[in-house]
Amino acid sequence: MKKNSQYFATNCVHAGQEPDPTTGSVMTPVYFTSTYVQEGFGIHKGYEYGRTHNLTRSAVEANLATLEGGKYGIAFGSGLAAAQAILELLSQGDHLILGNNVYGGTYRLVDKVMTRLGLLYTQVDTADLDAVKTALRPNTRLVMLETPTNPMLGLTDISAVRSILKEAHSDAILAIDNTFASPYNQLPLDLGADLVWHSTTKYLNGHSDSIGGIVITDREDISEKIRFLQNAGGAIMSPMDAWLILRGTKTLHLRMAKHNENAQKIANWLSQRSDIPKVYFPGLPSHPQYELAKKQMKGFSGMVSFDTLDNERTRRIGAAFKIFTLAESLGGVESLVCHPATMTHASVPLADRTKLGLTDSLLRLSVGVEDIEDLIADLEQALKA
Ligand SMILES: *Cc1c(COP(=O)(O)O)cnc(C)c1O
Repeated sequence: MKKNSQYFATNCVHAGQEPDPTTGSVMTPVYFTSTYVQEGFGIHKGYEYGRTHNLTRSAVEANLATLEGGKYGIAFGSGLAAAQAILELLSQGDHLILGNNVYGGTYRLVDKVMTRLGLLYTQVDTADLDAVKTALRPNTRLVMLETPTNPMLGLTDISAVRSILKEAHSDAILAIDNTFASPYNQLPLDLGADLVWHSTTKYLNGHSDSIGGIVITDREDISEKIRFLQNAGGAIMSPMDAWLILRGTKTLHLRMAKHNENAQKIANWLSQRSDIPKVYFPGLPSHPQYELAKKQMKGFSGMVSFDTLDNERTRRIGAAFKIFTLAESLGGVESLVCHPATMTHASVPLADRTKLGLTDSLLRLSVGVEDIEDLIADLEQALKA
């Protein structure tokens, strides 16, 4: 076990943060500055310009790197800005393998932007290891996937994908989007990933009041390239967002424990109802990858999807919630309900959605940290609608 998983709670509260040397301020200040004084030509304290260096940002980078068990963290203005920097590790003519159920914005960035700049890609169900093997080409430089996926909550065996790359003598970088699990539940670097990235907008910040992203790695070569791209492109995380995330991660361990617990109870409750034919949650024994979930994850996180297989009924349920708020996004302390077909996944072509099982009657819950009795009562009254 790595140090980070042993001392996870302590690291949530303290990692990357020292009392401010100027005033003794215990909390890391928000350094709102674009530039830094120089004592003479080229003589400074290592801080020159705000795009390149900001102390609040450095603190959140160190904090999140520690939580993921990585050495280096590079923070961006959004999750997709982080994804863009990862994709910019590649050059024209390079090939990448993309999970078939990645976040819609990740797919859009690859399919609509990066291909114009000459990247080639194959989208595969990365849960199917043979499909990953078959998709590998001599010029494959990156494998980018999410586990669990959104909103179907399918898993990919990270160590098995690592082994496939090794066997094929491929130097392709394995990049895992760990947004849905959070480092409390899953540590992809320990499982053989080269880098982990997040939309910090979700569980890491945890309070639905900031947009951000981060790349974390143990590999110095990758961290140097990503740091270069961050400075060259400039899609940095703002000092205010960095501070909000530092505040958020102080309670990450407490929040995630409650998200895990509430989501498990809701998934159990839903799966016992005869009027809900399908419930998707990695912590249910009926989940087709339950064994992998137990092996790869410490907990199963706060996302639960369910399908009534009745579009009209789903529409009525979606409008009837009183505590669950109908909104996109996830991972905040408050419970949200989302209709993926018209919200987060509207840009995915119908044929592709159908193949994934992402029907018009599917609802996705981001289960918050409220009283479970209230959440279940709200679900119960909504299901009667
Ligand atoms: C939200 C999300 C993203 C994109 O992050 P932004 O912060 O919105 O740019 C990427 N991956 C997953 C799994 C997400 O949920």
